[in-house]
Amino acid sequence: MRWQTERQEQFPGSEIFWSLCSKIHESNWEFVARDPILPVRSFWDLSQLIRAIRPSNLLTGFLSKLTIADLLTITGCHKDRRLRSFLDLQLKLYSQEPASRTSALYGATVLQMAQSPRGLWHLHGSMQLLSDRLKDSFLKDGGSLLIGHRVTKILSKKNPNIFDVNVVDRRKNLIQLKASDIVFSLPPQSLLDLIPIDGGLSTKYRESIKNLPKPSGAIVFYGALRRSDLPANCQAHIQIFDENFGSLFISISMEDDQRAPVGMATLIASMFVNIDQWSNLDSQSYASKKNIISKQIRTILEKKFDLLETSWDHQELSTPRSFERWTGRPGGIVGGLGQHPDQFGPFGLSSRTPLRGLWLCGDSIYPGEGTAGVSQSAMMVVRQLMEYKGRHLNIPVFNS
Ligand SMILES: Cc1cc2nc3c(=O)[nH]c(=O)nc-3n(C[C@H](O)[C@H](O)[C@H](O)COP(=O)(O)OP(=O)(O)OC[C@H]3O[C@@H](n4cnc5c(N)ncnc54)[C@H](O)[C@@H]3O)c2cc1C
Repeated sequence: MRWQTERQEQFPGSEIFWSLCSKIHESNWEFVARDPILPVRSFWDLSQLIRAIRPSNLLTGFLSKLTIADLLTITGCHKDRRLRSFLDLQLKLYSQEPASRTSALYGATVLQMAQSPRGLWHLHGSMQLLSDRLKDSFLKDGGSLLIGHRVTKILSKKNPNIFDVNVVDRRKNLIQLKASDIVFSLPPQSLLDLIPIDGGLSTKYRESIKNLPKPSGAIVFYGALRRSDLPANCQAHIQIFDENFGSLFISISMEDDQRAPVGMATLIASMFVNIDQWSNLDSQSYASKKNIISKQIRTILEKKFDLLETSWDHQELSTPRSFERWTGRPGGIVGGLGQHPDQFGPFGLSSRTPLRGLWLCGDSIYPGEGTAGVSQSAMMVVRQLMEYKGRHLNIPVFNS
């Protein structure tokens, strides 16, 4: 209700656009709750899709090639430049694309996600908590977890149908594993390096991976400061537009949320960048570019929150190179394939690959990036894998 009042105040005359987004979102949400498989690559996938479809989805299906900018035009709100700038900034966070390039069906949902009754949430204790719980549950079920290990090669053997997987540990010791199935949660672009040319992946599939739209990289500024230096009642999430950087998304820890010691706060500011701007720099140019960007971000933050240079207790900056080094994602790409109408949902990359036993999940697979999105893609791929083995995935908590 508060959001409805606010959007009417901020963007008078746009209610028809928001109502349309709401209708699309409701239809999408019910569809997703029935666990569809997308994109469809087998009869079983098709059966799961048909099971999830209702008449309202057929209606919204007609919008599948439209963008959010098209919805603005349909509803007569396309002349509202303020609304358009707001949407461009918000959508960039979720789809890496502005309104003119974000699928209407995807965009309508992410624009509503932060609202009641769903909403976006912080975990008390940070994402580490989620990670620890997943680890505990995995170990309890008898899983064997190798932390700090890197897969360096995957070879598919036709006879018997098995994968040879080379892994190196922190001391560079080689471990050789065998697998009947692999659920690959790395970016699909990593397959090109991990599977040798003669490793079983067809040239056609390799080309299709090479031709995937290039995802963005990210720059993240991490700062720690005294809470008393921040304005009283400072919001936890703020997005600002900057002439140089475009969207800058700021997240500030709240007192007692276990993300900072008492009396202190963490402030994280992030933005998307083109990875090519960082890939070919020599070490001196890299250090200098990093320094300049760090100062520019700090200047924006100091102006926005009335901070002094001395307010910072700690600060550091991560660039696409840092993401590449610390996560192993090629070139430091983040965020999957983006959500243009040509590659979202039914038109996206399939979790099934031409290699029997090799399955994909993660931010390049339906429904896309974000912790919730990649978890859902993992659920989808496990259902497919189990069905392939003649079994059924039964998770009571989700069935209730
Ligand atoms: C700055 C930023 C802020 C974000 N904030 C949020 C947020 O607030 N909420 C939210 O829901 N989402 C957020 N996201 C998005 C979210 O982090 C991603 O969508 C999600 O982590 C993608 O999950 P994934 O499993 O596809 O990939 P990843 O999380 O990247 O997982 C892939 C894993 O594979 C590992 N790996 C890579 N290569 C190898 C190899 N050769 N061998 C073994 N392991 C390897 C990596 O180290 C990594 O652990 C944010 C993303 C960014 C960049």
